[in-house]
Amino acid sequence: MNISVFGCGYVGLTTAIGLAELGNHVTGVDIDAQKIELLCQGVAPFFEPGLQELLIRQLSEKRLNFTNDARTAIEQSNVIFCAVGTPPLKDHYADLSAVLVVAKDFSLYSNNAKFFINKSTVPIGTSEEISRIISANGKGKFSHRIISNPEFLREGSALQDFFHPDRIIIGLAQDDKESRQLMENLYRPFTDRGVPMFFTDIRSSEVIKYASNCFLATRLSFVNELANFCELAGADIKEVTKGVGLDHRIGHLFFEAGIGFGGSCLPKDLHALIEIGKTHQFDFSILKAAEKVNQRQPYRIMQVLHQIYPNLKGKTIAVWGLSFKPGTDDLRDAPSLILLYALLQEKVNIKVYDPAAIPKIRKIFGTSLSYPRDYYSALKDSDALLLLTEWDVFHNPDYRKIKSLMRHYYILDGRNIFNPAEMAKHGFHYYGIGRKNSWLPAAGVSQPKAQKFYTSSLSSQRKLKSSRSRVKFGL
Ligand code: NAD
Repeated sequence: MNISVFGCGYVGLTTAIGLAELGNHVTGVDIDAQKIELLCQGVAPFFEPGLQELLIRQLSEKRLNFTNDARTAIEQSNVIFCAVGTPPLKDHYADLSAVLVVAKDFSLYSNNAKFFINKSTVPIGTSEEISRIISANGKGKFSHRIISNPEFLREGSALQDFFHPDRIIIGLAQDDKESRQLMENLYRPFTDRGVPMFFTDIRSSEVIKYASNCFLATRLSFVNELANFCELAGADIKEVTKGVGLDHRIGHLFFEAGIGFGGSCLPKDLHALIEIGKTHQFDFSILKAAEKVNQRQPYRIMQVLHQIYPNLKGKTIAVWGLSFKPGTDDLRDAPSLILLYALLQEKVNIKVYDPAAIPKIRKIFGTSLSYPRDYYSALKDSDALLLLTEWDVFHNPDYRKIKSLMRHYYILDGRNIFNPAEMAKHGFHYYGIGRKNSWLPAAGVSQPKAQKFYTSSLSSQRKLKSSRSRVKFGL
């Protein structure tokens, strides 16, 4: 099959490379000229395990090429995937402008009947809007097919998820046999080994995408809220989630407490569905609560830090891990950003280390932070260590070395990767989210105090994001 994939970001590039691996001839299209130049030279523009190697292989086997010439790509393909970004607008509704541009290009440059397959996450009803644009601009010359094929890959394991999806969701018109046949052929390598392919109507497929992400987001906020409660109740969240997760109806995945979820999908899609609800006069109260919990959660680390050091000015804090999760350099909506802004506001010296995200964090924070060459160097003369992303490399550190470098032995673990008893044995004051055995006075901070802290932190974060503060911090 000759396929064009519009958008060469995390989803589009993974899809383009994956489809080429399946034997198709694929053109990756992007408006970002620099990205296309890098890709043509065989350089992946972001970090994703295994992507670089497969990119080089597919380029050399000549099944994959890249361009910013939308017209030629559309003319030469019978199938067009749309995987462009849908970032939140100021009012948090998804920005559909890139999707609509691709739809317009598709209608203007199509030289025969083609398939338009949308992978971008879009509000319910967008596929109908795409259809309208294509019919209006194409003047009905060709009978194009519009298919919704939402994407569920996770950054950090994008290729693995492409080749081993839990399910493939396809939304199409009930009588569209041609599209059904096309999708069955395209994904046959997966369905042949048992991957379920679920055909449904287009609107339901659009809801399925949001519902999946919002369910996961709500589950995480639930477990984070439970962790905060455990601290006050003298229970241990790790024990609680183990016990609860043994119920098959609940399970253990996406059931770990921490400083909250980030990334390009969960926070964005959660808020988008709340906004989409409003357009239908529907109040998603459960999603609003999940969002509120997530916005507060990173500040739990600041609360504890304040319990240790009521005045943080001049302290040196080491930060291990910045990306929103391990295995990616993506910083979009990462909780680390919230904490870095909060620490900078309190005039803390911050030394950061991340195995992949340093180039991106440097672009945001410039000289406001220090960037030691490795994670041990980040600890030199530090008054506390904050662990914010659970990269593998941090799991078994040399504790003696850590002690020889830190000024004060406070470790605040935002991802609960260490064992409190073991940390105490090594002589650290260790705090994990919702963990027992905490050396902290009392059982955490009372809720009214926490509320006050969150509220003032949120308002200072808003101020920090204002242009004046960005200049102040050289951002
Ligand atoms: P991204 O920001 O990494 O990439 C989007 C790309 O689209 C950019 O390279 C941009 O230059 C390009 N683009 C914009 N307008 C274009 C146009 N008119 N023609 C060609 N290219 C254009 O985004 P992403 O993370 O890959 O996400 C893409 C979509 O998939 C979003 O809707 C997102 O919500 C959804 N999604 C993302 C993930 C994820 O983990 N990142 C998972 C599932 C679904």
